[in-house]
Amino acid sequence: MSAPERQASFWCEQGWVNGVVAAGVRLETDAAGTVTRTETGVPAREGDCRLPGVTFPAASNAHSHAFHRILRGRTHAGGPGSFWTWREQMYDAAGALTPELYEQLATAVFAEMVVTGWTSVAEFHYVHHRPDGSAYAPEHAMERALARAAVAAGIRLTLLDTCYLAGGFNAPLRGEQLRFGDRDGAAWLQRLASLRAAFAGEFDPAQVSVGAALHSVRAVPEDELALISRELPADLPLHIHLSEQPAENEACLEASGLTSARLLAKHGLATRRLSAVHATHLSGEDITVLGDAGATVVLCPTTEADLADGIDPAAQLRDAGARIALGTDQHAVVDPWLEMRALEHGERLRSGKRGSFSPAELLAAASGAGAAAQGRRAPGLAPGNSCDLMAVDPNTIRTAGSRPGQLALAATASDVHTVVIGGRVVARNGRHALLGDPAALLLAAVAVMDAANLQHTTATEDQ
Ligand SMILES: [Zn+2]
Repeated sequence: MSAPERQASFWCEQGWVNGVVAAGVRLETDAAGTVTRTETGVPAREGDCRLPGVTFPAASNAHSHAFHRILRGRTHAGGPGSFWTWREQMYDAAGALTPELYEQLATAVFAEMVVTGWTSVAEFHYVHHRPDGSAYAPEHAMERALARAAVAAGIRLTLLDTCYLAGGFNAPLRGEQLRFGDRDGAAWLQRLASLRAAFAGEFDPAQVSVGAALHSVRAVPEDELALISRELPADLPLHIHLSEQPAENEACLEASGLTSARLLAKHGLATRRLSAVHATHLSGEDITVLGDAGATVVLCPTTEADLADGIDPAAQLRDAGARIALGTDQHAVVDPWLEMRALEHGERLRSGKRGSFSPAELLAAASGAGAAAQGRRAPGLAPGNSCDLMAVDPNTIRTAGSRPGQLALAATASDVHTVVIGGRVVARNGRHALLGDPAALLLAAVAVMDAANLQHTTATEDQ
């Protein structure tokens, strides 16, 4: 099967252009799939690809761990738990991954993202090596598996190769963490450079690019932070999990005498290129550090609710100068509309006020901000945007009667009827143009993973 053909022009019955809904929006695209011309209030012309309903910029997923998808709907029994008990279940899932299994699973997960309206993803990737920590031969087998999955699903992938050196402050990697690690910061930087060189020759950068991540301040010792700050190429996006749990804040303070945001700032890492993921338990001073830096804060509200992390100080971060982006993280939910709504709902529950984030701000967080966090061109309907679009049916049982400009508070992924990436129609009515129904792919991938996990668990217990 070949990729869908690029459309030279689209006509949207209604479209979100420059922060408002306009009727009769006509777009032209170039060979790279970028919007070159936009008209509003015009009729369709012959040859235009017609998009009924309301067309929005597609969503950009700023935080994902694809393999966490197998935990969906499986972590809620067995009484009260916490982020830390959930993490043990996640480690079990990571233990059984092989490049072949990961390619199959990630293809299904990326296909799910595409049909629900996400057209790019920042994959925060740390399952680099074999379970015993030794390298795959040939090199970068896991990373290639993810890249091939992205190509199959048509999603734009920013592979954030993650530095993960310690199991905690002054604690070595143990057990399932061994496969996440590198010898030290210098070895990680070397592997990252090798990965960039390999991918540059193998993949179109508009489809697959490489970024960098530090797993967290607890996973990268302070002297390595200093080295990485000096040596990391300036053109790479840099992401980090920050202040997701109070326990890691306390441990950071004890080990370094600083809050985690302050620790990053001390080493010159709190800059505009930084994306701080979660940022849930920040001090007022931390908020100022991230705001002054103009950093992006990647919030994952449905994950943070699922993991009992807490409610982000989202409006405070925005008011301090930080840019807000959204991610689906562990994929208990893969739905840009629910993520937008959960951001505003969290703020309402925390503050007792409605409307801290306008629908336009929610849409910007879900689209342009997530693309910027990946170093990518913003998706949208204006000239210069990537022609990455999601068209919504405004007449379903969820959306009927809603004002088009307020759909961020009413629609769900089930209302997305068409998804366009780079001017190509890649999904219609929940089906992927090349891969079909993502539910079937997910079922097959989860079944194979379950069998592998069973084998892995039995083998581990026999040792
Ligand atoms: Zn994460």
